[in-house]
Amino acid sequence: MTQRIHKSNSLRTVYKKVPGGALKTHYEARNPSKAHCAICGKPLPGVESKRSAKLKKLSKTEKRPSRPYGGMLCSYCSRKKIIEVARKNL
Ligand SMILES: [Zn+2]
Repeated sequence: MTQRIHKSNSLRTVYKKVPGGALKTHYEARNPSKAHCAICGKPLPGVESKRSAKLKKLSKTEKRPSRPYGGMLCSYCSRKKIIEVARKNL
C-alpha cells in the first residue's frame, strides 16, 4: 500500500527505470516557480528554477545571465534601465 505522503499532490510522480529493467515509481519535490522580471513581470529566460540541492550542482553561469541586472530584469527592461541610469549621471 502506498504511503500517505505519496497520495498527496505536493510531490510529483516520476517513473524511473531500475537496473533490473522494471519501472519504479519515485516521488520528487516539485520545482519552484520561475523567476519573473521585477518591472514587466515576464518569466526570465536563462534563470534556472530548481530546488537548492540541484541548483548547487549548476555552475554560476548556468544560474542567471552574467550582466548588470541579470536574474532581476529581462533583457528589454535592463536595456532601458541602463540607458536611464546613464542619462541621470550626465
Ligand atoms: Zn521586464
